[in-house]
Amino acid sequence: MIKMALTRKDYNVIFLLVDSLRKDHLGCYGYAKDTSPNVDNFARDCVIFSNATAQGNATLPSIPSFLTGLYPKQHGCINEKTRLEKSTPTIATMLKKEGYCTAAFTGGGYLSKEFGFDNGFDVFKSNGYSIEKTAKQAMDFIECCKEPFFVFIHCSDVHHPFEIHKQFVEKFSLGGTEVKTTKKDFQNISEGKVKLTEVEKEEVIKRYDNEIAFFDLHFGKFIEFLKKRNLYNSSIIILTADHGEEFFDHGKIGTPEDNLYEELVNVPLLLKAPGLLPKKEKRLVRGIDVLPTVFGLLNKRMSSDVDGINLVGYVKFERALNLRAFINVELDLRSISMIKTNDFKLIKREFKREKIAKRDFLKFFPRYVLKFLLLFKSRQLGKSILSNVEFFDLQKDKKERKNLGLRVKEAEPLLKELNEWLIKMRAKKVKYSEIPKEEETRRQLVRLGYLE
Ligand SMILES: [Zn+2]
Repeated sequence: MIKMALTRKDYNVIFLLVDSLRKDHLGCYGYAKDTSPNVDNFARDCVIFSNATAQGNATLPSIPSFLTGLYPKQHGCINEKTRLEKSTPTIATMLKKEGYCTAAFTGGGYLSKEFGFDNGFDVFKSNGYSIEKTAKQAMDFIECCKEPFFVFIHCSDVHHPFEIHKQFVEKFSLGGTEVKTTKKDFQNISEGKVKLTEVEKEEVIKRYDNEIAFFDLHFGKFIEFLKKRNLYNSSIIILTADHGEEFFDHGKIGTPEDNLYEELVNVPLLLKAPGLLPKKEKRLVRGIDVLPTVFGLLNKRMSSDVDGINLVGYVKFERALNLRAFINVELDLRSISMIKTNDFKLIKREFKREKIAKRDFLKFFPRYVLKFLLLFKSRQLGKSILSNVEFFDLQKDKKERKNLGLRVKEAEPLLKELNEWLIKMRAKKVKYSEIPKEEETRRQLVRLGYLE
């Protein structure tokens, strides 16, 4: 009897990651349209984080940061030329060591074994794309696996291109006008080569909402399944996204690589766990905090150090929480970096002087000449030609419309912190290679618009 009382069953862990799910298009985060009745219902049992920040603005490196608790330069999977190495501990490898049955059902593309995402999983399937399939695969697995289990579910429904789902045509009055929603189309629109009318813009957003509703429908079925199997209350359930989607918030559409504004990096994060009361948590937390928080909830020690922290005590007992979220995106000739606190965000954009000097400049004509001219124009407004800083007061200006620059007293210390972090991260070397892709992965990457 005493032994029974001391032995606590380990909770199952279910981690759902919806690619490109923008937070403010969900009812539980204040969206006016009824896109997500099932997610909203689930949110009533959750800690709703309203300031969760991803560690990137793209699938790679954001998802690996959720899975490892590490900043991108630490886990090394920063873009399509890098992979998650076998030696990098992940939530799957750590829970497997604890005796968990581990399984992943992903939408494929970058979330495939070629990119190292199968590490630590007893069962790994990356042929899903849609939640309809990946949630079904997860339910089939859960039906016959032993507890405790860790299940990772990922889907690409909400990722462009957006399909029309018949059952939502009426609800979102879809198809009123013809629009194209591939990655290439969005890039052309963002670069100003194609212009959309207001009606077309609305139609694109309706199609995005319809994909969310489709996700939500199947998410609801999955939650229903857990409840029927008596697993809902004995599981830690996390719902989040790797990044959002821009709809002209800052002049572009899709997932522009140089956008570190809230529509892309402030992601939904819902956490339901036994012993954790539902509440709203407004303070800044990060993707890297998910893994240590899961281990905190399980009352287990992680087998490896991570960059994130266990949030349990902060959420439960309202202990002071003043985290920093950092992002660094290295593009060919530019780098864009960010530091964010509970109240402020600073974005720093730099041209890579050495790289530009080494290049045959004319080769980049007219795109880069144009960019220089644009920067020159901004210099006349008092900014530097090779780097500039944007600073936002997120409490007063949630949509990041008013750049306060370095005028505000809080800006300089944050810039200093960001520069120190960048020096540390840039000192770390990442292994680059051309990653051979299987036919299935290649097909999925074509569908998502990453390959032609
Ligand atoms: Zn993504």
